[in-house]
Amino acid sequence: MIIATGASPKKLGIPGEQEFSGKGVSICATCDGPFFRDKVVVAVGGGDTAVQESIFLTKFAKKVYLIHRRDQLRATGILRERALANEKIQFLWDSALTRIEGKTRVEKIFVKNIRSGETGELAADGCFIWIGIQPNTDFLGNEIARDPFGFITVNSRMETSVPGVFAAGDVRNTPLRQIATAVGDAAVAAFSAEHYIEN
Ligand SMILES: Cc1cc2nc3c(=O)[nH]c(=O)nc-3n(C[C@H](O)[C@H](O)[C@H](O)COP(=O)(O)OP(=O)(O)OC[C@H]3O[C@@H](n4cnc5c(N)ncnc54)[C@H](O)[C@@H]3O)c2cc1C
Repeated sequence: MIIATGASPKKLGIPGEQEFSGKGVSICATCDGPFFRDKVVVAVGGGDTAVQESIFLTKFAKKVYLIHRRDQLRATGILRERALANEKIQFLWDSALTRIEGKTRVEKIFVKNIRSGETGELAADGCFIWIGIQPNTDFLGNEIARDPFGFITVNSRMETSVPGVFAAGDVRNTPLRQIATAVGDAAVAAFSAEHYIEN
């Protein structure tokens, strides 16, 4: 059995998020960052992914607003320092997005300070949401080993902790969740599964 059920990005659940998905709202800087050259973007989150991807976005965007609901980043030391020192990144602490608006693409982001209740709007061309990703593993029991975030742990042959069960793609613990890596994993998993059956 090869498990390839992927992972689901967590959503903010605010108006405009779904409507503008692929029209300025994104979860992938590697995929969509180059579309925002010299543009203004908003990034949401405070963990390693949000901070790393925001720094990556500054290669293209002229300004990145990083909006975080706390008053400090959760991201690890070096990433935090790099982000705080990056002149293109402006932080909006203790803040949450409330609405995304535009005509055909993202144009305005509405923000609320969750401590003071103060509201405001930002003119932006894009909105990158990095508030976590969940592996689609709810159907699995406890026999197959997973990392602390729930992603299936595999070795380089895509073997899980259970003989004859393999995992590939976004559902496994991997540093990069892209089509290229998922397809590569799948090739290895299929090869290993065939080898397992033959032996
Ligand atoms: C909005 C968005 C944009 C992206 N853009 C790019 C891009 O431009 N370039 C790029 O390389 N990557 C991109 N990615 C990432 C890429 O889509 C994933 O890395 C890739 O699809 C992972 O492949 P996968 O087969 O592991 O999982 P998926 O493609 O997610 O497939 C998992 C499948 O399993 C099914 N499934 C889930 N649970 C169950 C269950 N219990 N039983 C049966 N079936 C189940 C799902 O319905 C789905 O069909 C993007 C991702 C998103 C969300």
